[in-house]
Formats: sequence, structure tokens, C-alpha cells
Amino acid sequence: MKEIILIKNGELALKGLNRSTFEDKMIKNIRRRLSDLGKVTFFKSQSTITVYPESEDFDLDEAEIRIGRVFGIAGYSRAAVAEKDMAEIEKVTLDYFSDKIFAYKTFKVEAKRSDKKFPLKSPEICREIGAAMLSAHPFLKVDVHNPDLVITVEIRDREAYIRGNQKKGAGGIPVGTSGRGAVLMSGGIDSPVAAFMMARRGLEIMGVHFAAPPYTSEMAENKVKMLTEKVSKYAGRIELYIVPFTEIQLAIRDNCPEEYFTIIMRRLMMKIAERVALMHGAKALVTGESLGQVASQTLMALACTDCACEMPILRPLVGMDKNDIVELARKTDTFETSILPYEDCCTVFTPKHPNTRPKKEDVLAAEAQFDFSPMIEKAIQNIRFEIIEGR
Ligand code: ATP
Ligand code: MG
Repeated sequence: MKEIILIKNGELALKGLNRSTFEDKMIKNIRRRLSDLGKVTFFKSQSTITVYPESEDFDLDEAEIRIGRVFGIAGYSRAAVAEKDMAEIEKVTLDYFSDKIFAYKTFKVEAKRSDKKFPLKSPEICREIGAAMLSAHPFLKVDVHNPDLVITVEIRDREAYIRGNQKKGAGGIPVGTSGRGAVLMSGGIDSPVAAFMMARRGLEIMGVHFAAPPYTSEMAENKVKMLTEKVSKYAGRIELYIVPFTEIQLAIRDNCPEEYFTIIMRRLMMKIAERVALMHGAKALVTGESLGQVASQTLMALACTDCACEMPILRPLVGMDKNDIVELARKTDTFETSILPYEDCCTVFTPKHPNTRPKKEDVLAAEAQFDFSPMIEKAIQNIRFEIIEGR
């Protein structure tokens, strides 16, 4: 039996004139995600995209999993393909549900006819298919209001499609329709969640990670790569830039007042991240900061980091509780990796008594005691990068 996947657009449907651009972007994203699974054709009509495998060995199970992680999709379902002949449709329907049906007690049939020339009208199609299901599976009952299973028969131009319940899609809008942003990726719980949230709002993600070897280990860096890989399952392809940060951190430690270590470090991270972002076409920075979570995330501290760069800093977690962030981290499968116990460069020289109410003038004055620019240039020259495909 030939099977396909039907995809319903999410918010896309609301975008008026932009709709076609959004839809094309989404198809491009899906195509890229499925590219190693075999040959596949896409059709779009109204707010449905049909994914039509062309090769016998196409892995539909894996395709379905991946489609479930593509932003811009409201819902999706597999469907069986039948010739546009009522006896054929009935046979395929019975076949298609023969092993799945035992999970359900009640059902109803819906029909959609985009081909108005099809000899039976929608209510007639529903009646016939409903009757066939009932006689094949006498334990089933019809429930038109709240059925366990909705069988939908769609009569299209060339063929008929038969599907069961639709699965919920990842929502949001297609990655890339909101431009590009650089996520400051630590190995913690928060930044991968922040990346996920901004990708869901259509931002194409690139990652910037600050590493401080030998204070931070190769394991810590691998953890960031693993996290980026997990995020890329939703966000698609991610370029991860790794900035050597040791020299700068040592210079902060040796030349700045201890109470401002963290805040100055964060300002320098922003300055470097902004440069990297500009070099690679990103127009915003993204962090996993949340108001009040730690000393460097008070309102005054955030104001000090904000003015380190010109680019907008997006902080999608700013108003979220840690519990809610953790819940999202579990859902996106980053949590278990995030809690692996490796040092982050932030924790290397943490001051005993960080200033939680830093004044901008004082921080700027403290930072000006040392000329960091040659070190910043050197760090930028020594950036390494990796491309994570995201599938
Ligand atoms: P996370 O769980 O994401 O590590 P956190 O609560 O530990 O966040 P901080 O360590 O203060 O908070 O970091 C705040 C944000 O700064 C992080 O969410 C991340 O965006 C950025 N950040 C921290 N450390 C690094 C790093 N080594 N490289 C890149 N970005 C970092
Ligand atoms: Mg951290």
C-alpha cells in the first residue's frame, strides 16, 4: 500500500500575501530534513502540503519523526493512497486500519472532496466507509461528537487519500523567515531552550560558544556540540563558532575589580558575539538569561550587558521560571545532556561576592582599566567552527 504524509500549515495560514514565501521556506526546510531518506516530491494545495515518497525504500517512520520537529507545521498525518474508485477506497481503508483499529472504541468518518466531479457526495462517502468499518469490526461504535478515531477520506484531483487522527505539529513559523540570530550557547540548561524558542519564531540559528581551556575541558566543548545537535533537530542546520576565551578571562581576573568579573566577562562575550554575528549575517544575539536567576541577571546587570553592543539581545526566557525552562528542556531532549557535570567558562572565575546592583558608569570605568581590544581581535582570529546539519 502506498503511503504519504499530509502536512497542515500552522500560523502560516494567517500570513496573507506572505503566505507563499512562508510555505516555500517551510517546504525547503522539510526537504532539507528529509534529504538523506530518499527521493520525495512535494505538492501544495490550499493549506496542505503533501509529502510524496518516490522511492520504495523511503523511511516513512523516520520522515514522520523529523516532520514532527519542523516549525510552521500545525498538524500532520500519514495517509494511504487509493485510486478514485469507491470500491478501491473502501478496500484500502479497511486494509489501512486493520491492525491499528483495536486501539479505538469509537470513530467517525469525514470526507473532503476537492474533486467535485467524483460521483459520490461527501455524506455518501462517509456513510459507505462507516458501514464498511462497522461490519468489519463489530466492536466499533460511531460517535460523531467525540470519537477516538476520525477517518478522513480526501478526494483529490488524481487520487484519494485516507488518514486517521492528525498529530500535533511543532507549531511556530518556519526557520529562516525571521532572519538569522547568534545564540550564546553555554553547556547549561537555559541557552539550548532559548535557541529552541527563537527557532520556533522563525529565527535561523547560529551558535557562539566561549571556551576557556585548560580551565574548561574538551568534554565541556563536546557537551555544547551535543546540545547544539539536539537543538538542530528542530532548528535545522547550525554553524557553531567556538571562541577561545582563556586569555581574556585571565586578563579580567588580573586587571578588574573582583565584584565586576562576571559582568565584564559577559559584556566582552556580547562584544565578541556581535562581531561574529555580523561576520555571518546574523542581526540579533540570543541568550538564555532569565530575570533574577543569578547575580548577572538582575535588571541592573542586564542593563550593563545590553549596552556592550548595538545589536538587539533577545532573551526569550526572561520571564520564565526555572521549572518551566526545565520542562521545555526535557521536551526538547536537551535536559539530560545539560546536567552532565562539566565546567563552563562562566564558573571558572566566579567572584565570591558579585555586585548584583552594578552601576553602568562603574562597570565601564572598571573595564576601561585594561585595553581588551587586541585580545578580542586575537580571539576572533582563532575562532574554530563546526557545521551541524540538523536532521
Ligand atoms: P545556561 O543554563 O544557559 O548555562 P545559566 O543560568 O547558567 O544559563 P549564565 O551562566 O549566567 O546562566 O549564562 C547566561 C547566558 O549567557 C547563557 O544562557 C548563555 O546564553 C550565555 N553564556 C554563558 N556561558 C557561555 C559560554 N561559555 N559560551 C557562550 N554563551 C554563554
Ligand atoms: Mg551557564
